[in-house]
Amino acid sequence: MKYDYLIVGSGLFGCVFANLAKQHNKRCLILEKREHAFGNCYTELKNDIHIHKYGPHIFHTNNNLIWDYVKQFSNFNNFIYKPKVSYQQKLFSFPINLMTLHQLWGVRTPNEAILKINQEKYNLRNPQNLEEWALSQVGEEIYYKFIYGYTKKQWNTDPKNLPASIIKRLPIRFYFDENYYFDKYQGIPIDGYSKLLARMIDGIEVVLGTDYFKKQDYWDKKCKYIVYTGSLDKFFNYEYGELDYRSLQFKSEEYNIKDYQGNAAINYTEERIPYTRIIEHKHFHFNDNDKTIITKEYPANFKDTQEPYYPINNKKNDFIYNNYKKLLNYENKSIFGGRLAEYRYYNMDQIIASAMSKFNKVSNM
Ligand code: FAD
Ligand code: UDP
Repeated sequence: MKYDYLIVGSGLFGCVFANLAKQHNKRCLILEKREHAFGNCYTELKNDIHIHKYGPHIFHTNNNLIWDYVKQFSNFNNFIYKPKVSYQQKLFSFPINLMTLHQLWGVRTPNEAILKINQEKYNLRNPQNLEEWALSQVGEEIYYKFIYGYTKKQWNTDPKNLPASIIKRLPIRFYFDENYYFDKYQGIPIDGYSKLLARMIDGIEVVLGTDYFKKQDYWDKKCKYIVYTGSLDKFFNYEYGELDYRSLQFKSEEYNIKDYQGNAAINYTEERIPYTRIIEHKHFHFNDNDKTIITKEYPANFKDTQEPYYPINNKKNDFIYNNYKKLLNYENKSIFGGRLAEYRYYNMDQIIASAMSKFNKVSNM
């Protein structure tokens, strides 16, 4: 056998796993079905601007070990994600903080804001879904201006059908702070994610434009272990049914102007506007270029795009996933990891933690 690990998928999980294996003198081959490596973290340089091809990627973590690990491969700038919300032509500070509440209601102090929001909140003891949870936290006005339309577009269903966990990560603050995240460390790799990941897998063979399933037996014979980071239902030939995914379409526009919107991201929360946000890439890098590139992000059906960006962790899918999970075990020489194979909407730091933990487990066997 030529390789210790055949890694299916060159996304962040595959690259971290390959990097750790290389450090332990293991031989790896990475297979990637797209024409480029690095999965959804992929960035490319255009007009001297790093384009986040698959949506805005902001690295953030609370974990010292993970922060030290990624910094080996790139320096990071001090970008802080502070999106704004556009609703009926008005712009609002976001995530919801004292400035948003001032813009909405004129309140000026934390005390005034808390009093007002207490009047707005619904008294629901045991909220059963995303809508009820939001109403019990912020009331109707904020729910309809900031959450309802965006969520309905993003998930293509009424928020009543969704679990509250989807929005629990959004902060509600009674002080002035627009930082989207609570984590200790945050930033963007200064020369783009593609460069960071290329350094991670330096010296490792990568075969692009190759779907593992087209010659599965051929690849399996070449290695001791398969590290599989694609969709789990596909791996098991949909034996227990198909998992649902939510997808996206990205449409970019170039302008011969310095600044299109004055911020990295503006969320469009109205239901009638088909996209959820507009990204202006140069703002992730404080770039002073005379041109600019923006990308509009349109939620889409998986069946139309065949790109599974988001798992949909509802009861039905979690049940199917758990059936597949029973089929996984390390003895049958496969390791399953990453956002698709674990069917969890993991941030990048969680992906790194998972790859580290799975590598440690298999290397101690
Ligand atoms: P992927 O990046 O999906 O990589 C899997 C790879 O496997 C793909 O390249 C795929 O082509 C390949 N593959 C699949 N099947 C096969 C096959 N049969 N044969 C060969 N190759 C195959 N995280 C953050 O921390 N911060 C953010 O700001 C952030 N923003 C995001 C915004 C959007 C719009 C999206 C979609 C995600 C965002 N994320 C963010 C999450 C981040 O993208 C993921 O955590 C990370 O990219 C997952 O890495 P992965 O390797 O598991 O998956
Ligand atoms: N959300 C919203 N309004 C916004 C931004 C987000 O209602 O302006 C909701 C929406 O349901 C979304 C969830 O919060 O799916 C999580 O948002 P986040 O920005 O964390 O999603 P991501 O960038 O990962 O898609």
